Amino acid sequence: MLFEGERALIFSPHPDDDVFGMGATMYMMAQKGIDVYSAYVTHGVREGDPERIKTRKSEAERACGIVGSKPIFLDVDYSLTSYEEMKDVYEKVNPDIVFINNRDMHPTHTRVFDLAKNVLKDKEVYLYEVWSPLKKPNVIVYFDEDIMEIKLKAMKCHESELKRRNFAEAFKALNIYRGILSEPFVRKYGAVGIGKGKYAEAFEKVVL
Ligand SMILES: [Zn+2]
Repeated sequence: MLFEGERALIFSPHPDDDVFGMGATMYMMAQKGIDVYSAYVTHGVREGDPERIKTRKSEAERACGIVGSKPIFLDVDYSLTSYEEMKDVYEKVNPDIVFINNRDMHPTHTRVFDLAKNVLKDKEVYLYEVWSPLKKPNVIVYFDEDIMEIKLKAMKCHESELKRRNFAEAFKALNIYRGILSEPFVRKYGAVGIGKGKYAEAFEKVVL
């Protein structure tokens, strides 16, 4: 069992957080027939260079193609004061399953999380981890080498970001860490473990 519903919506602060944080889960949901939508809140280019924005969008489109997600670019202004665009996409997609980044240390992620609370208040959501690991994940999605290869392929679409930092290596390492260290929480402390494999993506199911 891997999340139940027809439509999944992922709020992603930048055009790559979804694939880095939960690319394997995205792929597995899409394979199961769930319509997966990636809502990219900002275009991820602070200085607003149009060429760079174009590059990041096409990288995100390619990555979505690999994991089976449909990209939606919200282009919320970088001042991040408006949540109308997030509300609109939420209403249009009308998802059964919602994912959002945890309130991590990156200021844009923190802001997106706080804004999204206006849209997702009192709703059940799954938090995924990007810039700060979750403290208490309670849903662990395991996967094997084959799916890691697909996730790596998708992450590597973000070439321009990978030139800055080796995110692909970092998130593979995080998935190994979760694969090894989640076992006691699944066995003893009530976390739900889904699937099998040496890698895992961790989530925290919460009501916002
Ligand atoms: Zn980000």
